[in-house]
Amino acid sequence: MKAWQKGLLLSCSLLTGLAVQAADGVTLQGKLTQGSLIRGQAPAGATVLFNEQPISVTADGRFVFGIGRDASLQHQLTIIKPDGARDIMPLQFANRQYDIQHISGVAQKYVTPPAEVTARIQHDNQKVRQVRSTLSDKTAIFAQPQRPAEGRISGVYGSQRIFNGEPRNPHYGLDIAAPVGAPVLAPWDGKVLLADDLYFSGLTLIIDHGMGVTSTLMHLHAIEVTVGQQVRQGEQVAEVGATGRVTGPHLDWRINWLQERLDPQLLLAD
Ligand SMILES: [Zn+2]
Repeated sequence: MKAWQKGLLLSCSLLTGLAVQAADGVTLQGKLTQGSLIRGQAPAGATVLFNEQPISVTADGRFVFGIGRDASLQHQLTIIKPDGARDIMPLQFANRQYDIQHISGVAQKYVTPPAEVTARIQHDNQKVRQVRSTLSDKTAIFAQPQRPAEGRISGVYGSQRIFNGEPRNPHYGLDIAAPVGAPVLAPWDGKVLLADDLYFSGLTLIIDHGMGVTSTLMHLHAIEVTVGQQVRQGEQVAEVGATGRVTGPHLDWRINWLQERLDPQLLLAD
């Protein structure tokens, strides 16, 4: 067994979240589990493929990728060094158990939306999908995140949601309970891609942190930045609210790598 295979097995069994030596000159940071964003470093000038698809790499060899809530557990990273040498690294991820969350007292128009809002919801989804496909060369995502609000964790990533007794899509965010008007801070530096009022998520902000990674901040009371604006990590960008499908004021923070929905809590724990 090569040294990097031992390193990978160790990281799988302990889920340490610490940087591991993954191959000659390659390190990975993050938990190898469903919902995780992995940040990596390869030699400068390397090409990186995730499941045989090329992904963005900075000039100094940094890259990110992530897998979703129900993603398969076997993935593959290929590092092609500037001299053409090719390292193929199988990655074994761990699967997760998700909670079931019963939520009652949701306005019925958010559990079963009336037919006249169907077009609006489709339009919202298209817009969100489009901005989340942004690939910029920002590198803010390689820093540790700033928690965007203070308060009790009132909802976690992945939980199966049952609204007023009816099963609906899983929850993909981290909910932080806080009073209306409490500050919402930018988790990392970034550029505002969307600031809009959407049917389910209410007043919503999407910020690009680079390499395909975005934060979505939902159910806001007020938005204090505009589309195209550059924001700094820790800068106040909005106020906590109770807009859209909610039963009380909270911030719902989501992280995407392109269209993959990832768990913010795994990054806070790092
Ligand atoms: Zn939520």
